[in-house]
Amino acid sequence: MSVLTESTLNPADAIYDFTLLAGDPWLFEIKRGQTLRIFDLEGNQAADTLFYNARDQADRYSAQDTIREQGALYLTTGTQLISTRGNVLLTITADTCGRHDTLGGACACESNMVRYAIEKRSMHACRDVFLRGLRQWRPQWSKRDITHNINFFMNVPVTPDGGLTFEDGVSGPGRYVEMRAEMDVVCLISNCPQLNNPCNAYNPTPIRLLVWD
Ligand SMILES: [Zn+2]
Repeated sequence: MSVLTESTLNPADAIYDFTLLAGDPWLFEIKRGQTLRIFDLEGNQAADTLFYNARDQADRYSAQDTIREQGALYLTTGTQLISTRGNVLLTITADTCGRHDTLGGACACESNMVRYAIEKRSMHACRDVFLRGLRQWRPQWSKRDITHNINFFMNVPVTPDGGLTFEDGVSGPGRYVEMRAEMDVVCLISNCPQLNNPCNAYNPTPIRLLVWD
């Protein structure tokens, strides 16, 4: 487990403060030099997040480039979030949770069906929430424009024999992660509506989003 790092930023100084309900998308352009904090208000909520270079539509967050450049599977303070073109999109500057997943992907109707039960297919899923958010920005974009995501506050360890497991979270009420934009970045969050995953006690909860200049 990584070392936890607190922030020196004061919420009273933030230029933006918003509470996002579970199941809703959040689309926001973070300017170079600004800092975004994601608060896990009630604990173990999954904040499924996509990042795009605001000036280049083909340049997006890349899980494999990020993992390779850090030499680490999990994201925490000091991690640079790398794009498909090799640019540093953001740097994680504070983290009181200590583990964030970028391997497990976002929940979809198909994965709900495979992971939980066939009758779960019609239930809400992050891929649909992403699409709702993405079309506020790029109406012509489709599911193929939903690329790698980060699952902030999710604990998805890789086992010694190479398996992937969705474990109970290590986050808790009031934990947060903070990152500084190294370029103008469009951030799209799906605050996960997943009702079938025991890691958040079958209870999706709101997150709070703060931005500082
Ligand atoms: Zn989800």
